[in-house]
Amino acid sequence: MIKKPRGTEDILPNDSKIWRLIENTAHEICAKYGYKEIRTPVFEDTSLFSRGVGDTTDVVQKEMYTFNDKGGRSITLRPEGTASLVRSYIENSLYANPQPTKLYYLISCYRYEKPQSGRLREFHQFGLECFGSDSSATDAEIITLAFDFFKTLGVKDLSLNLNSIGCEKCKPKYNEELKKYFSSHIDKLCDTCKDRLEKNPMRIIDCKSPVCQEVCADAPRMIDYLCEDCDSHFNQLTSYLDKLNIKYAIDPNIVRGLDYYTKTVFEITSDALGAQSTVCGGGRYNGLVEELGGKPTPGIGFAMGIERLILILKSQGIELGESLGPNIFVASIGDNASLTAQKLVYDLRNKGLWAERDLCDRSVKAQMKYANKLGACYSIVIGDDEVLNNKASLKNMGTGEETVVELSCDSIYNIIKK
Ligand code: ATP
Ligand code: MG
Repeated sequence: MIKKPRGTEDILPNDSKIWRLIENTAHEICAKYGYKEIRTPVFEDTSLFSRGVGDTTDVVQKEMYTFNDKGGRSITLRPEGTASLVRSYIENSLYANPQPTKLYYLISCYRYEKPQSGRLREFHQFGLECFGSDSSATDAEIITLAFDFFKTLGVKDLSLNLNSIGCEKCKPKYNEELKKYFSSHIDKLCDTCKDRLEKNPMRIIDCKSPVCQEVCADAPRMIDYLCEDCDSHFNQLTSYLDKLNIKYAIDPNIVRGLDYYTKTVFEITSDALGAQSTVCGGGRYNGLVEELGGKPTPGIGFAMGIERLILILKSQGIELGESLGPNIFVASIGDNASLTAQKLVYDLRNKGLWAERDLCDRSVKAQMKYANKLGACYSIVIGDDEVLNNKASLKNMGTGEETVVELSCDSIYNIIKK
């Protein structure tokens, strides 16, 4: 038997309603904050990600699904959303609209990772980007949006961890200090990090290898090297968060997995997740639009993993999208009654109700058993007599109470809609 590829999941009917609720909540919250949905292709030119995500990152070095198409182009399945949004922002001249441009997305992403709980090869993200504002009010706004979203879903006990990783003015000096520090511990670093030392030493802080993590514990911290501009940006952000009553912790070790971040970086974590504790990660990337061929434009965004969010919801016992059965099951006996049943179900559906009938040639007894299994709220049985008299008995499946009703959509609707 052919099985699903490793690291992928089927979203079965019982779970798809949770997904829809999460997606609907994302649409609703984004509307309140003025974010508009954007949809971009599942695959892009490989160079978009090597430039946009950064070719010293784990994502680009180890995790991308890259192949040559029949035309010999190098194609990559998107491992994340930001690079595609920046491309689209530039390509479609979205900068010509009044700024900032606020965009959000609900997408599938692809990374060749070691599958485990909360870590898949195909996973899904809800994310957003805001282009054209360097104000820390924007940083505060997207963090508020994320918490608003979690609160609406009923998620509890999340932690917000913040850091600033500086800008092109203050990063170089810090990188020099980092290089000095790591050079004196080079023997202990993993091979990938040895390579990163020259190209991008800050990446080492994000390495998952325990030995590298140990070396990082005493490494210099960017937050101590911020220039005046970055320092005041960060202080303004924390003042906004204080004012909004959003609790945070400053974690100097957050550098985030992607190369393009500047200034604010943040992660939202949950103890419910175990090893993969980050449900949402984000930050500012003031150099990225220019890096990808646009005019210098500040940007900030976040992305959250929907599979990890669902793990939290389940572990906190949050019931979402508990579905009831159909409003009514219409049972029928014989061809004539079957015609009437078909039309009645159709009319009730047109009035917005969930109506079901038998589609498997069951006996009446079996039809009623099936109605019970579906959890139908009401049932009605139609035979030749009922069609002839235009009357039938409507049964409330909860109380067992039966009422004789006219066999018309309106009279049935008036009773069962309550
Ligand atoms: P991690 O450190 O856990 O690998 P990351 O820094 O690579 O995460 P991002 O690129 O920031 O993750 O992606 C944003 C969010 O997407 C993560 O916080 C997480 O919730 C989710 N995510 C990332 N990779 C995966 C994956 N392989 N499977 C499921 N969810 C993922
Ligand atoms: Mg990762």
